[in-house]
Amino acid sequence: MRVGIFSTKKYTRTFLTAANERHGHELVFFEPRLTVETAALERGFPAWCIFVNDRADTDVLKLLRTGGTRLVALRCAGFNNVDLAAAKELGLTVVRVPAYSPHAVAEHTVGLILALNRKIHRAYARVRDGNLALDGLLGFDLHGRTVGVVGTGRIGTIVARILSGFGCHVLACDPVANEDLEDVVKYVTPQELLGGSDIVTLHCPLTPATHRLIDAAALEQMKEGAMLINTSRGALIDTQAVIAALKSGRLGYLGLDVYEEEADLFFEDLSDQVIRDDVFARLLTFPNVIITGHQAFFTREAMDNIAETTLANVSDFEADRPLANEVTIEMMASQGGV
Ligand code: NAD
Repeated sequence: MRVGIFSTKKYTRTFLTAANERHGHELVFFEPRLTVETAALERGFPAWCIFVNDRADTDVLKLLRTGGTRLVALRCAGFNNVDLAAAKELGLTVVRVPAYSPHAVAEHTVGLILALNRKIHRAYARVRDGNLALDGLLGFDLHGRTVGVVGTGRIGTIVARILSGFGCHVLACDPVANEDLEDVVKYVTPQELLGGSDIVTLHCPLTPATHRLIDAAALEQMKEGAMLINTSRGALIDTQAVIAALKSGRLGYLGLDVYEEEADLFFEDLSDQVIRDDVFARLLTFPNVIITGHQAFFTREAMDNIAETTLANVSDFEADRPLANEVTIEMMASQGGV
């Protein structure tokens, strides 16, 4: 099948090309993101493969459909960037990669916790500058601390197990409790989780119900000086409220791999440009904030799995086989959305 690939980077091409030796599709790589402008440019692709910051809203999907597209294949787990109601109306099938390596994201999450706590980002810069003083680098033992895991699906479950291994007490909230985790976590209400945790880490999907889950009111409920980690989707937190909480000291640490307005920033080398996003620029000024550019998924194992599952999804669609990884508006509704 002829598959156009938006938001191509060198690594996208490498992993998809290698996996395609088993599938034999015609892959055509494009560097730009999917937008109304780029959707109008290219026609004649029955399938388009898109990534986290490609915007498949109603207008874009209409343009793709007019151009002959029947399949939108996400090469990621989250599908908040696709208007599923519009896709259904237009007769477009949407598939994704639900699990490629939850370990990759869980391990990066724990990496952010450890780096923030022990100030490894600051120590690295200091030592390279010949400053071996310890002042300002004081951390705390994770052992014995309480961590709140919001969402115990594939990633949250692994985070809970890793942190339990560190000797942390793990609280969790999820509308669908994971019975296999009950030896490791205590399920509580969101209020109990926020009030009782030294570290809160977000692992739920972005839906209308979880949009800005961590707002000013939620931050007020958190322990003074607690740590907040978000490796899920940027809009789970109200960034302005988080900045206010960092300034007042209510929030002690912030670790982000995602940012609400990341589409205009992430995955690009902007090192010789001025950052025009004042909110993002303000976040970069805090010593107790670490931001990574949506890299939690980025391991060899995850990239192999993403490429293989994406192309297998396309092969299944082409051969009219059942689609194990289809995403539908009904699925979104069952997760508390629309
Ligand atoms: P999953 O579907 O396996 O688990 C999500 C869990 O969140 C489910 O158990 C669900 O019941 C729960 N949930 C839904 N609404 C909730 C709420 N209001 N409060 C608490 N829990 C709620 O998903 P996953 O594979 O674990 O991925 C989690 C998220 O991580 C994805 O939605 C995606 O946005 C993000 N992600 C980020 C990266 C990255 O590179 N940073 C990579 C993959 C996934």
